[in-house]
Amino acid sequence: PAKDIIGVLFRAGKMATINDPLDENDLLDIGMELGVDVTIKRAETVEDVISAQLALPDEELGDIQPRPPIITVLGHVDHGKTTLVDKIRSANVAKGEAGGITQHIAAYQVDHNGHKLTFVDTPGHAAFGEMRARGANVTDIVVLVVAADDGVMPQTVECIAHARAAGAPIVVAMNKIDLPGANEQKVLTDLANQNLLPVEWGGDTEVVRVSALNGTGLDNLLETLLVTAELKELKAPTDAPADGVCLEAFRDEGRGPVAWIIVRRGTLRVGDLVLCGPSFGFIRAMYNDRDEEISEAPPATPVRVAGLNAVPNAGDTFLVLADDDIDIAREVAETRQVRGRTELLSRRGGPRTLEEFLSK
Ligand code: GDP
Ligand code: MG
Repeated sequence: PAKDIIGVLFRAGKMATINDPLDENDLLDIGMELGVDVTIKRAETVEDVISAQLALPDEELGDIQPRPPIITVLGHVDHGKTTLVDKIRSANVAKGEAGGITQHIAAYQVDHNGHKLTFVDTPGHAAFGEMRARGANVTDIVVLVVAADDGVMPQTVECIAHARAAGAPIVVAMNKIDLPGANEQKVLTDLANQNLLPVEWGGDTEVVRVSALNGTGLDNLLETLLVTAELKELKAPTDAPADGVCLEAFRDEGRGPVAWIIVRRGTLRVGDLVLCGPSFGFIRAMYNDRDEEISEAPPATPVRVAGLNAVPNAGDTFLVLADDDIDIAREVAETRQVRGRTELLSRRGGPRTLEEFLSK
């Protein structure tokens, strides 16, 4: 009975009423005094609830529909990743279209024979690994760019390891086949030595000859990617509140924090309350990879959003919450802000005194 509990506390010199919260020590003391076993169960934190929602299987989020594959281009430096990504995009952007291809984008979608493919601008294999480590992997297929005049290099090997760890199938783009120094046999041998036995040698690694510079073989590459995607039967719930990952973010002079995010599942809409890493806010405006304003984004769509209160980090996951949960969103975002700052300080060698800080 409450009065016994209050009595125990009173004898211990604590004035409590029936509405006061009790801390862990009080509870254990009360148990001892009254001869009752006390088991303490911690309430689920909001973070627990959020993780649980992110971990919900697709089937529990309603109607499942096919979705475009999300493709990341990796490879050794100078083997032609940027050239390839740009060429695929420019071939798909009609001339004179808004935005053009001059503006930097974190990801884009192309249409090949009526099928969509989403390309994430190559984040570099280190960033790819870090995002994977943080559980923010959205990549379905890795395009491994190997220059035909150079073959498999140290970073190529690292990229293979990252793709394997992420469980993403590898499609090899043997690039720069236009060069006189191109040595196709060497590339195939190098790949075989990495346990990527080419299809033409009886293995199951697709190797597509391309020249990112002049566009040779790119249709073939897209076709191969679509076939690879088909085998994976990629699907996602479309009606659910959206979740996904932030690819990059920055502060825009006029628009405030702006984030490139990719929707993993569900549909993101203007007006949605989003919690993204240490930031939150109602989506005020949303733009596609062609800088066109859009009002909703289905799975595998990369979008640029405005309306967050702070700049999130690349690799932060985002989640749409009910409008009523604005206080929860604010609280979680603020807690993460504080934790992020503490971690940053400790990575720099622990919290310092103000004096130390100012003398640096
Ligand atoms: P990244 O470091 O992998 O992003 O490589 P880049 O796309 O920046 O390309 C490195 C260099 O290789 C640039 O000078 C490109 O113009 C050149 N390059 C890329 N693809 C090709 C190609 O297919 N043929 C030739 N000849 N040069 C290429
Ligand atoms: Mg590059």
